[in-house]
Amino acid sequence: MHINSTIARQLDIELPSPIQAFAPDWPGAERVSIHIKRDDLIHPVVSGNKWRKLSVFFSDPTSLPHEVVSFGGGFSNHLHALGYCCNKLKLPMTALVRGDYTRHPTPMLRDLARWGVRIQYVTKPEYNRRHDNDYLNALHQTYPAATIIPEGGSQQLALAGVQQILRETPQGFDVVMCPVASGATLAGLITALRPEQRAIGIAVLKGVGYLESLVEQFLPDDFRRDWCIEHHFHHGGYAKSSEPLSAFIETTQAQYQIPLEPVYSGKLFFALKALIADNYFVKGTKILVLHTGGLQGARNTECTDHKNV
Ligand SMILES: *Cc1c(COP(=O)(O)O)cnc(C)c1O
Repeated sequence: MHINSTIARQLDIELPSPIQAFAPDWPGAERVSIHIKRDDLIHPVVSGNKWRKLSVFFSDPTSLPHEVVSFGGGFSNHLHALGYCCNKLKLPMTALVRGDYTRHPTPMLRDLARWGVRIQYVTKPEYNRRHDNDYLNALHQTYPAATIIPEGGSQQLALAGVQQILRETPQGFDVVMCPVASGATLAGLITALRPEQRAIGIAVLKGVGYLESLVEQFLPDDFRRDWCIEHHFHHGGYAKSSEPLSAFIETTQAQYQIPLEPVYSGKLFFALKALIADNYFVKGTKILVLHTGGLQGARNTECTDHKNV
């Protein structure tokens, strides 16, 4: 799949993202080689993997959606990426947001409002129906012209955009690592692996078995690749942090100038360091780490770097 360069340019998306050698001063790190695929750098505010998952909708100027409806929480990297794209391409968008932030909108929600996104707060019970057919059919009646995109942009269609990450990466790696929440990013990477390569997901929430089932639902039947999810690095659950994680993020950012946030990339790099120290990788393993972005979710001000949005 090719991203049409006129649309990508209109959106200020810079592809391919850079690949950076990473040689940290960590116990055991001299036994492996590490490269970071910097999808956090494809855009100053659009989160890397959220763009990848949405790119299928914005690859062909002759078949753009007419209107978009999607779902997320108050800090959603997905709604933010989608809102940005819809604003730039002048597509009407409705965001169904879990909870009610009317009195205390997050920076993410203030960006959406500024970008002309219609924000509708929905109760948790209603939000929980977001995958139900009855509910989705009713939404289709309310928004007949709209493309309805699931939470996180995670659906079968999204995998092609994620696969593109490995298409633009030199193939000389043994293992690719990424954070896992809905599983679509990991599934996209798995389906782009060569048979001798392996993918390791780092769970950012408590979900032994559950996260594996999410990934499997995206994989073709009988699809065989070597992959797994490591569950020891969620630090208490989704968006939960810990003292060691906060300290690690602070030190690593300062020492290696890699921006990290506690929800996704911080947990990923924390896990990388711990697994290396644990001799998890055989000597000489070439590791590719996917930095998925997500830095907007960690900020406390709205973005100011786009004059014309
Ligand atoms: C949403 C998100 C993820 C999780 O991706 P899934 O495809 O839902 O597993 C990882 N990193 C960042 C920065 C994200 O915003």
